[in-house]
Amino acid sequence: MSHAPIVEWRDGTPHSPGFNDIYHSCAGGLAQARQVFMRGCGLPQAWQHQSQWRVLETGFGLGLNFLATWQAWQDDPQRPTLLHFASIEAHPVEVADLLRSAQDHPELVALAQELSLQWRKPGPGFHRMSFEGGRVLLTLCIGDVKPMLRELAFFADSIFLDGFSPALNPAMWDEHTLKAVSRCCHRGTRIATWTVARDIRDRLTQSGFVLEMVPGLAPKRDRLQGEFNPAWEPKVRATAVSPLPIEISHCIVVGSGLAGAAVAASLARRGWRVTVLDAGSEPAAGASGLPAGLVVPHVSADDAVLSRLSRAGVDMTWQQVHSLLREGQDFAQCGVRERRLEHGLPDLWHPLAGWIKPAQLVRALLAQPGITWQGGMGVQCLRRQGECWQLLDAQDRVLAEAPRVIVCAGYASHTLLPRVLPLQALRGQLSWSWRSAGDGDAFPASPVNGRGNFIPQVPTDQGMAWYLGSSFERDSTDTQARDSDHQSNYAKLRALLPETARALATSFEGSQLQAFTAVRCTTPDRLPVVGALDGKNLPGLWLSSAMGARGLSLAMLCAELLAALWHGEPLPVERKLAQALMPDRKNLTPGGGATALCKD
Ligand SMILES: Cc1cc2nc3c(=O)[nH]c(=O)nc-3n(C[C@H](O)[C@H](O)[C@H](O)COP(=O)(O)OP(=O)(O)OC[C@H]3O[C@@H](n4cnc5c(N)ncnc54)[C@H](O)[C@@H]3O)c2cc1C
Repeated sequence: MSHAPIVEWRDGTPHSPGFNDIYHSCAGGLAQARQVFMRGCGLPQAWQHQSQWRVLETGFGLGLNFLATWQAWQDDPQRPTLLHFASIEAHPVEVADLLRSAQDHPELVALAQELSLQWRKPGPGFHRMSFEGGRVLLTLCIGDVKPMLRELAFFADSIFLDGFSPALNPAMWDEHTLKAVSRCCHRGTRIATWTVARDIRDRLTQSGFVLEMVPGLAPKRDRLQGEFNPAWEPKVRATAVSPLPIEISHCIVVGSGLAGAAVAASLARRGWRVTVLDAGSEPAAGASGLPAGLVVPHVSADDAVLSRLSRAGVDMTWQQVHSLLREGQDFAQCGVRERRLEHGLPDLWHPLAGWIKPAQLVRALLAQPGITWQGGMGVQCLRRQGECWQLLDAQDRVLAEAPRVIVCAGYASHTLLPRVLPLQALRGQLSWSWRSAGDGDAFPASPVNGRGNFIPQVPTDQGMAWYLGSSFERDSTDTQARDSDHQSNYAKLRALLPETARALATSFEGSQLQAFTAVRCTTPDRLPVVGALDGKNLPGLWLSSAMGARGLSLAMLCAELLAALWHGEPLPVERKLAQALMPDRKNLTPGGGATALCKD
């Protein structure tokens, strides 16, 4: 990717010095969005009464096409439940330019302001932004068009072919790009563009589009619109996403920690009736009952899969947290300092990290319309009965049944799916207590992460508390609090924050010290598992689990990924990253073949 300066404003018109072209004429951007792209794709009529609509755009530019589509969605009483807009952009603009471009169109200003809050000058890769409570989703793919198209794994309903002029940016319009666009189409996908250049028409026709030239938006005489309707049977790509619409009805989630609650909310938002069963008497009875934990990205020198996933996940957690929880009380996006003592590296400051109370988030997610939570429902095993999965208790009674079941039971997923995946238990204990007068001087101003972590102040009903995490013990499912774990946490604090450790020395001797102990679930490659278990001969069974020590950052992302896979939507992350989480990935060798899970 080149680093050309992005936008220059000349007499109110946005120019790209890099491409020596204008983004759009002074007032023509919105008219073009409506007349060329929306109208060319038969919108809004085409999306009416649909459960979802997926737009793919090449060239996000100043975002006017997205804003105009979002506004049309808002204005349409027959709009689809979910609007997806996936857009590719090699040179993302500054937030000030987005806002400035919308200024000329008063009806878009409020939407542009909302967009600007999530924009933050995105770096390479996919960025999911969520509006209207998750019903308008923007997947911004930052990078060159061809590699980004390869990373998209969905079938669009409308294609907006935009971008600078073919003469000035030929790679955006060449045969390979247009072929790659056609691979994102199903028969009937509509396409629209402002150019009628002969070679573009020829390439589109060769790629399977049936086109017509219609009167254009002045000063252009014509514009192009059409539909994907090849004379041949299009090859179905080796993609993880089903192109076929599924019937939205009832499904069951087992487990109401962060993973299960997030899956339930993502599916309910798409119209599913979701029953959530949990063995506990309250939601968040497992690791997600953690009183407070950090939402912070993982950083690695080689920007490993976990680092990229956690960045995407952290953004998605905050989107939910900001819309569902009370700032200051249930969360603070206060920034987190990362100490890298063992590598001898300087501290890192994560301005967008912070702490949350996970159980509050679980409760808020489960309160979304369409979700029924049932406690005291210990599922002992799963049995295939015709097209359905039955969930049975210890007495062999059927607790519930549905064609689709998603197992989100943390480490207990292992018991429900014996010999299916190599899930591992990882016991952890958090040490915490209330702050005393005078602690403040020795406490850091914001949370600190490293080997262990320290959150200096979180409001509770009984006063301000501090939290010190956490111990790690592989293959242990024991949830009894232990003094030895408090001591190992304290040893980490001594290295992380010596002054704070001195101030808390008496707390680690006294009886005031509190413990939260639970079992995390991990895999040998330390990545979560999300996806269908069809490959394991278990059709209709899905899994979202193994969040390890990062469930607060990963559970929302995994849930949106699962929902996107069900509905053939744009994935929230690159195809390669999504594949790294699938149950049939290479690094996950099961401990034997899947069996009937209940003995008949
Ligand atoms: C001490 C400690 C500190 C941590 N700190 C952090 C942190 O700072 N940041 C971070 O991101 N992550 C942290 N984690 C990890 C995080 O808590 C987990 O990754 C996350 O909570 C996992 O969520 P989950 O929904 O997958 O599992 P869980 O929260 O364990 O949920 C599983 C649910 O399944 C239910 N269940 C189990 N078996 C059955 C059954 N047979 N039938 C019905 N229901 C069943 C359980 O009752 C439970 O409610 C920490 C974990 C621990 C233990």
